[in-house]
Amino acid sequence: MPQIVPKTMGQQFGRRSWAEPWKIKMVEPIHMTTREERERAMAEAGYNTFLLRSQDVYIDLLTDSGTSAMSDRQWSGLMLGDEAYAGSRNFYHMVEAIQEHYGYKYVVPTHQGRGAEHLISQAVIQPGQIVPGNMYFTTTRLHQELAGGKFVDVIIPEAHDPTDLHPFKGNVDLAKLESLIQEVGADKVAYISLAGTVNMAGGQPVSMANVKALKALCDRYGIPVYLDATRMMENAFFIQEREEGYQDKPIAAILKEFCSYTDGAWMSAKKDNLVNIGGWLAVNDQQLFDRLRNMVVVYEGLHTYGGMAGRDMEALAIGIREAVQDDYVRARVGQVRYLGELLMDWDVPIVQPVGGHAIFLDAKRFYPHLPQDLFPAQTLAAELYLDSGVRGMERGIVSAGRDPETGQHRYPALELTRLAIPRRVYTQAHMDVVAESVKAVYDNREQVRGLRMVYEPEYLRFFQARFEPITE
Ligand SMILES: *Cc1c(COP(=O)(O)O)cnc(C)c1O
Repeated sequence: MPQIVPKTMGQQFGRRSWAEPWKIKMVEPIHMTTREERERAMAEAGYNTFLLRSQDVYIDLLTDSGTSAMSDRQWSGLMLGDEAYAGSRNFYHMVEAIQEHYGYKYVVPTHQGRGAEHLISQAVIQPGQIVPGNMYFTTTRLHQELAGGKFVDVIIPEAHDPTDLHPFKGNVDLAKLESLIQEVGADKVAYISLAGTVNMAGGQPVSMANVKALKALCDRYGIPVYLDATRMMENAFFIQEREEGYQDKPIAAILKEFCSYTDGAWMSAKKDNLVNIGGWLAVNDQQLFDRLRNMVVVYEGLHTYGGMAGRDMEALAIGIREAVQDDYVRARVGQVRYLGELLMDWDVPIVQPVGGHAIFLDAKRFYPHLPQDLFPAQTLAAELYLDSGVRGMERGIVSAGRDPETGQHRYPALELTRLAIPRRVYTQAHMDVVAESVKAVYDNREQVRGLRMVYEPEYLRFFQARFEPITE
């Protein structure tokens, strides 16, 4: 196995540090609140960081979704918006960028990732079918369930262990998948739901060897492989860094080869396409494309805008071309790793290896005295906000929701608090402030008693659930 967690990115290149391949042209002021202000804001938000107002947040690591800083080129692109209802020139620019860099033939625009998930799930899943995948994602699984499918996790077991240093913890367990296919029959499997860098496992990548073998296996059974391409640039970076034979290949070439082992992809462009809103769905099968293109006019908008403005599509096209640059991805992952290394140096429990888009604090080891019913990861997100105004989010029992059949909480093995780093937004000094705050919260860990849920919405409860602190 190649060495996967270099002490610093710098040492890999002979003690030369990485730096961002851009400089700052415009700034957005942020301000620090007082402890009393944060206590009031947190109580009003029901101890759910999703319900805070962003003006009350100092460093916002809630998500890397739609929070990227656009470049001067992308902002210029906004001025080139062709807002024709049909056939906008920006749509064709976007299609060309997707075809060139992801390699799929046909593109359907959607307003964001879940719009694309809705369409593909409804178009492809027959009620009663299963959808195996490398760990669930909240909106992805919900759309699969709403289409009558059942998600089955086939990620390798290492992914469920936050301390395991496997370099490709996003890999599919091919033996498990094959015995599942044989057990239920290939016709009961709608498709494989493959995510490039697995968010819920800590931003962990899938290897090229794994996707290649997966494709070969699925071809034998006639099962398509569809890719959640949301963070594929970061996945390509890890392949370049860790997989034999890819060290000298550019990110762009790795991305395209990876996608060539899949039959199509859905995308939240709000992540590594570097835009604030947008999404797309791309496939190689023309009949499926015809169906999707027909559905998009019902749910999203005409098939040449799908819920986006012309200017959004132009910014997206430019964003794809910027996001496949090696120096950009290296600095992106380098910043995330910088924060991770500070925390590891201080023995704060985090998911390792550090992934591509976020640091995941391991709330089970952070608060070993809190059972999962007291929402340790939710508690940790609240404590961090109270300490410094840094906003993260829960990725544990609240996010996992309830089993639709039994109505019981699902108890995921991973109980994590995610600190997602927006792309091109914060500096290394911000990362220092975040690390110091996490350390302060860690030092105070024994005082913390957990939360109780006092309001639970029916769908995707983590967005709107409310909590109260347990004081006794
Ligand atoms: C964000 C995300 C989605 C959903 O995309 P939206 O643009 O938020 O609707 C799907 N899959 C993954 C892995 C994501 O991170």
